[in-house]
Amino acid sequence: MKLTVLGSGTSVPHPKRASSGYFVEANGGTILIDCSGSIATRMAAAGLNWPELDAVWISHFHLDHVGGLPAFLAGTKHAAEMRDRSRPLQIVGPVGLKGLIERFDAVRDYKLLKQPFPVEIIEVEPQEPFEIGGMIAVALKTPHTPESLAIHVRDSDETTLVYSADTGFTLELAAFARLCDLFILECSFPADKPAEKHLDLAEAMYIIRKAKPKRAMLTHFYPEWDKVDLQEEVARFDPPCEVVEATDGLVV
Ligand SMILES: [Zn+2]
Ligand SMILES: [Zn+2]
Repeated sequence: MKLTVLGSGTSVPHPKRASSGYFVEANGGTILIDCSGSIATRMAAAGLNWPELDAVWISHFHLDHVGGLPAFLAGTKHAAEMRDRSRPLQIVGPVGLKGLIERFDAVRDYKLLKQPFPVEIIEVEPQEPFEIGGMIAVALKTPHTPESLAIHVRDSDETTLVYSADTGFTLELAAFARLCDLFILECSFPADKPAEKHLDLAEAMYIIRKAKPKRAMLTHFYPEWDKVDLQEEVARFDPPCEVVEATDGLVV
């Protein structure tokens, strides 16, 4: 399983960190995890095979996670690379996703779902296994927005990835990510978080310690992190596994 970080930032404009997006290439297929406004450009800039994308996962409806989806769908309608595609594109996310896309579509009758290839919008409930991009997944309700979900994906070779998306503190997330191969966890603030529905480093490290993943990746950094050395701060917590700082363009 290969993961490319496309956006390690937040909704706040930042010169080095685009808002959320991660590209996963696995045995089962290819998934784009979250789709902020910058992500179509980032996929192309990274030389990723976006025309063959099997599925898009939308974690929640904040625009730094879903804002690029309508524009991406407007682009795929006209992209020469997509003209001969017959394989469906899955767009998977919380209940309400279909209504969100339809409401956007209705603004100007963009016909976003009329593509050269079939588009399937799949709304998932927490704790109910589903298929995404040829892999088996399950979602967990997180304390962030009424619809926000974390996702656990298992590839055919048993490699597992968990993506928290935005979340407040919950130990359920540690159980959900337990012993996974890569745990991508939001860590919005270094300390003294100003927002209850995000994590700061101490909370993120507590969750990682409980989850015991093979490797963890911290992401979704607000500009408060700009003057802080993340690795130095992480080292203070004596982490139980390798803890990687997500940066735009990073491949693991
Ligand atoms: Zn966010
Ligand atoms: Zn959010």
